[in-house]
Amino acid sequence: MSVFPEAFKTQMQQLLGTESERFFRALESESPVSIRYNPLKNIGLPTELQKVPWASSSFYLPERPLFTADPLFHAGTYYVQEAASMFLEQALTQHCKLSEKLRILDLCAAPGGKSTLIASLMKGDSLLVSNEVIRSRANILSENIQKWGNGNVWVSNNDPLYIANALSSFFDIVVVDAPCSGEGMFRKAANSVEEWSPQAVNHCTLRQQRILHDIWDTLRPGGILIYSTCTYNRHENEHNLTKFKAQSNFDSLKLSLDTSWGVTETLENGIYGYRFYPHVSKGEGFFLSVLKKSGDKDSANPKIRKNLLTKATSDADFVKSWLKNPDLELFKRKELILAVPKSISYEAQLIESTLNIVSGAAELAELNRKGFIPSPAAALWTGLQKEAFVQSEFDKENTLKFLHLENIKPELTESKEGWQLITHNGIGLGWIKKLSNRVNNYYPKEWRIRMPLNKLI
Ligand code: SAM
Repeated sequence: MSVFPEAFKTQMQQLLGTESERFFRALESESPVSIRYNPLKNIGLPTELQKVPWASSSFYLPERPLFTADPLFHAGTYYVQEAASMFLEQALTQHCKLSEKLRILDLCAAPGGKSTLIASLMKGDSLLVSNEVIRSRANILSENIQKWGNGNVWVSNNDPLYIANALSSFFDIVVVDAPCSGEGMFRKAANSVEEWSPQAVNHCTLRQQRILHDIWDTLRPGGILIYSTCTYNRHENEHNLTKFKAQSNFDSLKLSLDTSWGVTETLENGIYGYRFYPHVSKGEGFFLSVLKKSGDKDSANPKIRKNLLTKATSDADFVKSWLKNPDLELFKRKELILAVPKSISYEAQLIESTLNIVSGAAELAELNRKGFIPSPAAALWTGLQKEAFVQSEFDKENTLKFLHLENIKPELTESKEGWQLITHNGIGLGWIKKLSNRVNNYYPKEWRIRMPLNKLI
């Protein structure tokens, strides 16, 4: 058996009783590998793979492949996500009116598992603010969101209290996938065992209380807050929510479960919690609870004080042919041209002017003195009219070379000079510029594959 801290073992024995032996045995087995497909980058769902029962478009893989060596992974056609955490889908489909226009905040969002799931479930005229307080993690989040390719998601880098103060009663749904002691990840991430201690649990508990307290005001009355952690710890889960209930008004919402999923429902002080254990469900440890804020009020529409988004002028007209859907409005963030669904034009201007935005909307092209440079995100955006571009379809080996930021041989590309979209299996990945005697590779340096090519090909 792996060496787990004694205090953790005692805690799990108290929590699970005789079941704890099965629990600890399960921690000795391999972690299941699961992926979730991007419904907007339809590459066809596999029929031979086992489905994740509580989530759509999600499957277990028989073993862990080298994802880095798969161009479709870089193209955002699927996301590698721990199966239990996909249970968020049940909270969203059972208690949130996903067919309506919604304003959603994913507060603790990096690296983007929950945000890409939310983006796939909400409608194209809804808004998702995917926030991460740690700047370096916000960059990874932004990369994953841009690769997923929705045009209605913004990545921000703000503190919870700042968001709540700036956007009071603004959101219909807030997801708090809180930083936690990570007990549910002990099988998957060895470092989470090393970092665990009763003191660390206490630190996490207090931080979670602060986050809930700080962010609550951004949720409109009648809105839904989904709280989740990847820990079994009752201090961080049920106890925290009980404390929170003493300070704020909400009802806890029950979820319908299929018994075959093996999810444990808890009900404490009127609060429902949903727990995943690896000896009962095929996944890691996870906890989720759904809170409905008392009252019922439309979300607030604060005045935009200083608008940092400007409406695009005729110098941006050239991107119009790039859009599959004409129901988009063109804006500029400095020299960057963005396409925003008309339905959320106000929200886009408000959050761009209020939050610290890392990326957002469909970023199309940067204007410069010589003309323009297409944005990396545009190549991956699901709303791009690919036919507007010369496309060079690459095989797996050449796509990996492109993603590795190698020099591209001109003979591999279409003959026409100028911008070309690189595709693999018809899915856009990035841009090259073909000149008379060479090809410039415009794949972003920060996104390039760092693993040596001989390990991939
Ligand atoms: N939701 C993510 C996903 O599904 O990919 C995982 C989120 S992870 C469990 C928790 C995140 O909370 C981390 O990215 C961490 O940087 C962030 N975090 C840490 N301290 C925070 C704080 N005080 N307020 C808000 N977020 C915080």
